[in-house]
Amino acid sequence: MTGWLGGLTIRTGPGPPTADYLCTHCWYHQRLTGHDRIRYGARDLPLTHRATCPALHPKGTTP
Ligand SMILES: [Zn+2]
Repeated sequence: MTGWLGGLTIRTGPGPPTADYLCTHCWYHQRLTGHDRIRYGARDLPLTHRATCPALHPKGTTP
């Protein structure tokens, strides 16, 4: 992962394509594999995660 500062990275190649998403706020990592999942899911990963990212949406500390 050297040089990878987070965000969405899609790798295509001789093997199965993979998409990795790394949230730079909470360091949540998710990987998608497969053409369809990447085509329809990868672009939404940052958006869907940002909606639930615990770093961006703190649930509030214990009272
Ligand atoms: Zn996050």
